[in-house]
Amino acid sequence: MSDNNYRELDSRYYMPAFSRDLMIARGKGSMVWDADGNEYLDCVAGIAVCSTGHCHPRVTEAICRQANDLIHCSNLYYVPHQGECAQKLVEITGLSRAFLSNSGAEANEGAIKLARVATGRKAFVAFTHGFHGRTMGSLAVTHKPAIREPFLPLEPSCTFTEYGDTDAMMKAVTDQTAGVFVEPIQGEAGVIIPPAEYFRAIRERCDETGALMIVDEVQTGMGRTGTWLAIQKSRVKPDIVTLAKGIASGFPMGALVAREDLAFKKSEHGSTFAGGPLACAAALATMEVIEEILPEVSRKGDRFAGLLSDYNPRHSGLMIGLTVGEVCARVASACQQNGVLINCAADGNIRLVPPLVIRDDEIDRAAGVINGALGEVLL
Ligand SMILES: *Cc1c(COP(=O)(O)O)cnc(C)c1O
Repeated sequence: MSDNNYRELDSRYYMPAFSRDLMIARGKGSMVWDADGNEYLDCVAGIAVCSTGHCHPRVTEAICRQANDLIHCSNLYYVPHQGECAQKLVEITGLSRAFLSNSGAEANEGAIKLARVATGRKAFVAFTHGFHGRTMGSLAVTHKPAIREPFLPLEPSCTFTEYGDTDAMMKAVTDQTAGVFVEPIQGEAGVIIPPAEYFRAIRERCDETGALMIVDEVQTGMGRTGTWLAIQKSRVKPDIVTLAKGIASGFPMGALVAREDLAFKKSEHGSTFAGGPLACAAALATMEVIEEILPEVSRKGDRFAGLLSDYNPRHSGLMIGLTVGEVCARVASACQQNGVLINCAADGNIRLVPPLVIRDDEIDRAAGVINGALGEVLL
């Protein structure tokens, strides 16, 4: 396809919900190439999705092999790889049963339904600057006014309380609360990391009131922070965990995993595509690869953040945030011109979520370009 044709087609036929200026045509490992063949080191990775890098041979092979055997059959039948996939998710989360979905928002929708049927309650508590998705239910527990307010009124009803403030959380969560939705690290907000004790306090308050603790690990999970789940660092066990983004290296897939005695009964939930053979094959291969590279993730994250220390980064594993303010977009564009892709999350925060397979020499190169761009723009 000619270079200008895709811009023209997009502007004429696609709804203008995104602002974008680059077509990514190909990827391998931590590298991607645009339609003109220019090379970029990818510190966006589809927003923490391409966990095993682009087109990891084992993931690509698993998808191709499955595509030759069976692409779809419906959850009316046992689905190839679905059981193994659920078993692996239970192992890595320490919970009891999984239910698969097609996205992060849909996993959170499932968690809302499960919390409602399990508790018989209707109200939720979530946190300022939190993000849980853009479908109507997941949007109802998402805080950001700009994306939420055009769609009011939303269900379920949700009380938002200051992220990181234990006293405010204690007041908000009551014996009317079905569930508390919390991110272990707020990703879309710009990599905001509360103290580990905060999660223990939420756990205790949920136990006191009978509310379910629903930990949204859509962005932080699947090894991103150096452990399978970010919440595992605080040694708090949630009632429900939701996952998506990095779970299948870019093949669309989400999951909710819940503790024993929390499960959908017959006909309480379902989906045509969710947990299909291709997604499960991709997820299984992804989890095998992550298992091998997981021990290196913390060290790599420390190396990357250490190289950016002039700008006070916050990080956990390979999830790194730097507050730069309103020049964020200019820094991102300077990085792109120098062959490194980075992303601006909310409130002038750079978010770096490279593939977990990124090599040390690639980290050094990316940090060099980012430092250079920051120096140039902030000067
Ligand atoms: C991206 C994200 C979601 C939404 O996932 P989608 O797959 O885009 O629906 C939900 N929660 C968190 C924490 C996320 O980062």
